[in-house]
Amino acid sequence: MLRASLREISAALKEGQVSPTELCQKCLSLIKATRFLNAYITVAEDTALRQAEASEKRYRQGQTLGDLDGIPVAVKDNFSTAGIETTCASNMLKGYVPPYNATVVQKLLDQGALLVGKTNLDEFAMGSGSTDGAFGPVKNPWSYSQQYREKCAQNSSAQNEDTNWLITGGSSGGSAAAVSSFTCFAALGSDTGGSTRNPASHCGIVGLKPTYGLVSRHGLIPLVNSMDVPGILTRHVDDAATVLGVLSGHDPKDSTTVQEPCRLFQLPSLTDIKNLCIGIPKEYNTPELCSETLAVWSKAANLFEKAGAKVIEVSLPHTCHSIVCYHVLCAAEVASNMARFDGLEYGHRSNADKSTEALYAATRREGFNEVVRGRILSGNYFLLKQNYENYFIKAQKVRRLIANDFTKLFSSGVNVLLTPTTLNQTVPYTEFIKEDNRTRSTQDDIFTQAANMAGLPAVSVPSALSKKGLPIGLQFIGRAFHDMQLLTVAKWFEEQVQFPAIQLQGIMDHLDSVSPQEKSAFFS
Ligand code: GLN
Repeated sequence: MLRASLREISAALKEGQVSPTELCQKCLSLIKATRFLNAYITVAEDTALRQAEASEKRYRQGQTLGDLDGIPVAVKDNFSTAGIETTCASNMLKGYVPPYNATVVQKLLDQGALLVGKTNLDEFAMGSGSTDGAFGPVKNPWSYSQQYREKCAQNSSAQNEDTNWLITGGSSGGSAAAVSSFTCFAALGSDTGGSTRNPASHCGIVGLKPTYGLVSRHGLIPLVNSMDVPGILTRHVDDAATVLGVLSGHDPKDSTTVQEPCRLFQLPSLTDIKNLCIGIPKEYNTPELCSETLAVWSKAANLFEKAGAKVIEVSLPHTCHSIVCYHVLCAAEVASNMARFDGLEYGHRSNADKSTEALYAATRREGFNEVVRGRILSGNYFLLKQNYENYFIKAQKVRRLIANDFTKLFSSGVNVLLTPTTLNQTVPYTEFIKEDNRTRSTQDDIFTQAANMAGLPAVSVPSALSKKGLPIGLQFIGRAFHDMQLLTVAKWFEEQVQFPAIQLQGIMDHLDSVSPQEKSAFFS
């Protein structure tokens, strides 16, 4: 059951092959058995079971709410959830229980979805590894796949499982691990520079960043307001489309959402790609790109070409500036956003109370990690009166140039761009933490960031296994508000590559404490 797609599980629920409570219990027990992944910060067992009971009643009475009724989902812990702790993986918000739901969370619940838990992340979503949060790093479910373990065993210098476990990517690594380990059917992430697509790629699942303005940000604790978008993590492209259909639409509480009424997203099952023009941005072929990823990328381009699509090389001349530009804009918006955490209104309050200033300073030093404090400092520097023009305004101008590159391409007839999602495959934690957070995201967001600058929809699709048996994702970037077209192309590609979810067997083998009967019960 846990292996089913959203549409399949919804049909099984309707036909009574499984009840919402049974399904919820399966997910909850798999969450417990896979605690070692550290994917969840909070498991909302009681709430989820109550929601399951209510859903069960609806099924009995033939009055289901929508496509997600009775289906377990998870939400990144930077979305406000009424009555459920929301921490942003920060000491600053430990114990904070929001009085309201983020619009996207409410929309999931309105469709009858069961919220099984809040997932782990980098503190305030600042990172690309899910290693920099107050609750510890998230482990990639692929760390336990047989093929990867065999490769590690061949390499005598690194036989120890403790040193070999892999990062999930980030910052929505908890959501990616939760979906990749089959503990829920879909999860929300957030994407400001790549935080949904990057962990999706490293965990062998689908990660969608919708067009900016299509999905409400209300209740998503902000990182960079002008780039943040709720992201969707699923195991199938079709599932991402279903969830997008549920989430998208105007929200009076987020003035950046478009006025268009919410359209339902139903992807066609067969796509005629003959009239499609796929652009391959030449700047994305950087010397640092992992050779295996390069090979997968060109194979994908050939696949499209063979099927009759027009595949052309294109240029995005300003994209190379997106990381630098992002660091200025991100820090500036972070400095403003984080000002609200002062020890008076939310979460943590220091005991240092000699003066209001001392209270602010001590609260912020105790509450935020080094990464967050560093960004606040640099952001305030960029925003100083004497620096504002040179940094903030200049970065805004460069951002416009980056966005214009895309507009030009799309208005010249290109429908979708095909690129790698990440420079490298996932790496062991011990290797990842050798670099600091800032240096890492310079590399990790290189292919994902520009889409955020331009507000475009983009999706990472698992495309192949590397020699080490690890997932390699490719990214499709589409025209603004053409999310449906983007997903249709992604779905066609997904059907061609038939990516194997072999991480599942590895996780099952790793669950020593679970009997074979219980293991098979998860999926029967
Ligand atoms: N890695 C980027 C950062 O640290 C992007 C994070 C994100 O998309 N939330 O800012």
